[in-house]
Amino acid sequence: MTVAADPSASPVSPIRTDVLIVGAGPVGLFAAFEAGVIGLSCQIVDILGRVGGQCIELYPDKPIYDIPAITSCTARELVERLLAQCKPFDVPIHLEQRVETIEQRDDGRWTVRTQRGLVFDVAAILLGAGNGAFVPQKLTLPEAGPLETRHVHYSVPRLADFADKNVVVAGGGDSALDWALALRKVARRVTLVHRRAGFSAADSSVELMRRAVEAGEMDFVVGGIAALEVEDGALRSLTLRQIDGEIQLEAEHLIALYGLVADLGPIAQWGLTIHGGRVDVDTSNYESSRPGIFAVGDIANYPNKQKLILSGFHEASLALRKAYAYAYPDKKRVHVHSSYDAKLAEKIGAAG
Ligand SMILES: Cc1cc2nc3c(=O)[nH]c(=O)nc-3n(C[C@H](O)[C@H](O)[C@H](O)COP(=O)(O)OP(=O)(O)OC[C@H]3O[C@@H](n4cnc5c(N)ncnc54)[C@H](O)[C@@H]3O)c2cc1C
Repeated sequence: MTVAADPSASPVSPIRTDVLIVGAGPVGLFAAFEAGVIGLSCQIVDILGRVGGQCIELYPDKPIYDIPAITSCTARELVERLLAQCKPFDVPIHLEQRVETIEQRDDGRWTVRTQRGLVFDVAAILLGAGNGAFVPQKLTLPEAGPLETRHVHYSVPRLADFADKNVVVAGGGDSALDWALALRKVARRVTLVHRRAGFSAADSSVELMRRAVEAGEMDFVVGGIAALEVEDGALRSLTLRQIDGEIQLEAEHLIALYGLVADLGPIAQWGLTIHGGRVDVDTSNYESSRPGIFAVGDIANYPNKQKLILSGFHEASLALRKAYAYAYPDKKRVHVHSSYDAKLAEKIGAAG
């Protein structure tokens, strides 16, 4: 695997490859290996800053018991094993890239663009996009939108931006507590706001936060954010709803860290047949209603679909065999079992 360089720094010319895999979840990673096995080049894009999809975002340290021939491994270990498995093919992975638009050209190939300016020229697109892109859950208050990036934030790009500011961090998970603790060292004042006194963050972080509050290094207030008060286009304070009424809390910056939600986003505009937020496929090859675009893993919809990692592996394997016909219409692919594939053995041996 190669984590590709950030293209936003300079304009890039189209990247030509056989298959673009959208999503670096477990199914996208296995698809990268399988593409290599059957002789297809591929590249992966993922909106997130790291690989692993749900396995890493939602349950990295939980054990998984139903991966064939692995009695038990954590979700994180599974992702590490999948990365090791596709390493011999040195597949470029472009992180923090959300696929936005597709266009089919007269020669049948696709031009795919990402939101940060990457352009791909591919014979087929394999959607392994799970439930869609993970995006931060945002405040639903109408006044939050115009303040976004200036006074209302859903991530912390640089601690220094909050130096000597009055900052409220909202949320009860690991991100909220970790950032509140980090910010107390640079901000004028940090207040952690959560709708209840219990937290979903790690016990050690909760303990650190409670000690910091006792030491007067930061504040913690229970309440739900009911309104934002704005003056001259800048955030001045928040209204917090509590059991016995409302209070005002002064704030120049609000960092809401409420976790991630999945959103199919631009893929929903691609003219694919979609039901319940998932892409309908033909189960003989996991091709969508648009020839050349495949959907595998959790994003695929068909009768009796099971959202299981092993189902996604099977789906990717069949989809890529059909994708081969788009990439090499004049070639007949001869199936060789991996156990008899001398070229594959050499490649894997060379990488090992
Ligand atoms: C708590 C929990 C426990 C589970 N336990 C098991 C288990 O024991 N066994 C099992 O088999 N399954 C289990 N699952 C289900 C399993 O995790 C999913 O079936 C699996 O992650 C699906 O893999 P995927 O690669 O299809 O999608 P995902 O893992 O969802 O990955 C999709 C990737 O695509 C990216 N993406 C989406 N849209 C875009 C876009 N427009 N542009 C760029 N990137 C995009 C996302 O950022 C994400 O990284 C569990 C799920 C959960 C939540």
